[in-house]
Amino acid sequence: MVERPQRAMVIFAHPDDEIGCAGTIASWIKGGTEVCFVLCTNGDKGTEDLEMPPERLAVVRAQEQRNAATSIGVQDLVMLGYPDGGLEDTQEFRGRLVKEIRRFRPQVVFTHAPITQARHTHRDHRICGAVTLDAIFPYARDPWHYAEITRAGFQPHKVGTVLLWGSDNPEVFVDISDSVELKAQAMLCHRSQFVERPNRDPNRVPGDFIREGAKRMGERGGLPYAEGFQQLDFRT
Ligand SMILES: [Zn+2]
Repeated sequence: MVERPQRAMVIFAHPDDEIGCAGTIASWIKGGTEVCFVLCTNGDKGTEDLEMPPERLAVVRAQEQRNAATSIGVQDLVMLGYPDGGLEDTQEFRGRLVKEIRRFRPQVVFTHAPITQARHTHRDHRICGAVTLDAIFPYARDPWHYAEITRAGFQPHKVGTVLLWGSDNPEVFVDISDSVELKAQAMLCHRSQFVERPNRDPNRVPGDFIREGAKRMGERGGLPYAEGFQQLDFRT
């Protein structure tokens, strides 16, 4: 079981990926946790519509992301603005995550599971998860890594726990019975992805798959509705 922390950070690849932990985040915010979202790409390739140019889609999705963050009470939203499909494991990208981690000083960080065997995942998801873990340990923790960031006033910080969504083997289940509707609402803020998609199944109510997924995860954890994570602990 994870205790509700004072501060939690969510680092994710595309606008809407934060939905992987949005129920837990919404519950924790109700309890008083402060949360920072770090969105790595602008999601500008997330359409099949050739009439929607990437520059316009990026603007639409940035607003959708702001709406989704606000809907669950997240006030600190950082957009790194890399192109969709363009994340790479570079010193520069890692440094930007190090800076955000040292600035916000979360006890818990959520991100994508970087390694999955059961299915293929988006390259940006794998890279975002892997670079986040590296940024946490050892780069954000030790002052001589990114010494220029240390000198700029961003002191080293030790994250205690990482929770990975999308893992093959979730082992930690958070009860989101009090926030599953907020999670569904947050998802619906990403209108271009879930509500206005041209090839969407008209017989399905957008948002239902959130409730169904949370119920399935709940069955695994003995809870009515849950999110499931793989947990990594670091010595603090
Ligand atoms: Zn994604």
